[in-house]
Amino acid sequence: MRVFNFAAGPATLPLEVLEQAKAELLDWQGSGMSVMEVSHRSKPFVALAERAESDLRELMSVPANYKVLFLQGGATGQFTAIPQNLAAADSVADYINTGAWSKKAIVEAKRFCKVNVIADEAASNYSTVPSATSLKTTAGAAYLHYTPNETIGGVEFPYIPQSDAPLVADMSSTILSRPIDVSRFGLIYAGAQKNIGPSGLVVVIVRDDLIGKARAGTPPIWDYAAMAKENSMLNTPPTFGIYMAGLVFAWLKRQGGLEVIGERNRIKANKLYAAIDGSGFYRSPVARECRSWMNVPFTVPNPDLEKVFCSEAAKAGLTNLEGHRSVGGMRASIYNAMPIEGVDALIAFMGEFQRRHG
Ligand code: PMP
Repeated sequence: MRVFNFAAGPATLPLEVLEQAKAELLDWQGSGMSVMEVSHRSKPFVALAERAESDLRELMSVPANYKVLFLQGGATGQFTAIPQNLAAADSVADYINTGAWSKKAIVEAKRFCKVNVIADEAASNYSTVPSATSLKTTAGAAYLHYTPNETIGGVEFPYIPQSDAPLVADMSSTILSRPIDVSRFGLIYAGAQKNIGPSGLVVVIVRDDLIGKARAGTPPIWDYAAMAKENSMLNTPPTFGIYMAGLVFAWLKRQGGLEVIGERNRIKANKLYAAIDGSGFYRSPVARECRSWMNVPFTVPNPDLEKVFCSEAAKAGLTNLEGHRSVGGMRASIYNAMPIEGVDALIAFMGEFQRRHG
């Protein structure tokens, strides 16, 4: 039986996509092989990869002066690829720290360049983001890095930061959740395992003028110029991941694109936050103006009830509601592939749980 899977990533995928993958698993496009067994240099696979890229470009309205790369090493790999490609060793990169993932990006960048943390939300226990007007960027910085959506804390920027330097965004847990203006960014990256497909693939969307500046010694698989030159096939790419991403992009297009998906996500998030706020029992630790549409942490008055909540929810077919091990509580990740019915089922369960334990 399929459950409603609220995991933060790897996360639920659209049922239609899984069914298509299942239907063509043993014989992809009449090849008599699964897509996993096909050469990445073969015409049909190259066509698949090109289609995946063009669908992603169409969905996000990626301008022509940006490259779309399908890479490996996850978003974590990009934490180190970004400074190697965009910053000289003696230059400064600005970072905004809004939680666990920003922090990891900062730690990695410090190994490659000077890092100026221009805003740090540690003091608020990562329950909010800095105001747009409080950001004081460094003159001559190589770039400004931020995490538009913190997957663990459930904190999301309601605005796009301004900087004279190229803006770099870790969109792992928010990419494709609604329309965005790609032209505001120098580089966008996202691990696939939330809104794109299976883990093992990371998407990088990078403006042309930022390519070709990798410092000496950067390994070719981390060098955007080398990867762009080879259409992300400098070495064997994660073929099954690219195939699944392509199916997800096609599914998103069938849904009506990011306007429609964004509206659906807004409704899902609003319903869940309204249920939390109106309960007098559940509580959101995140400031209202920066609550994530994708990752919704919440608590119950008595932490002893957390385990009970999660195990009873799992029995009711609502799984993976445990908060991240570093913060506790509960967290419902409601990415694109989580249907409204899944959120409705969670809200109904929360009401019923409160009646029994509140
Ligand atoms: N950044 C964010 C915002 C994430 O949510 C994650 C993974 N949950 C990562 C980076 C790390 O991604 P990966 O495990 O693909 O390296």
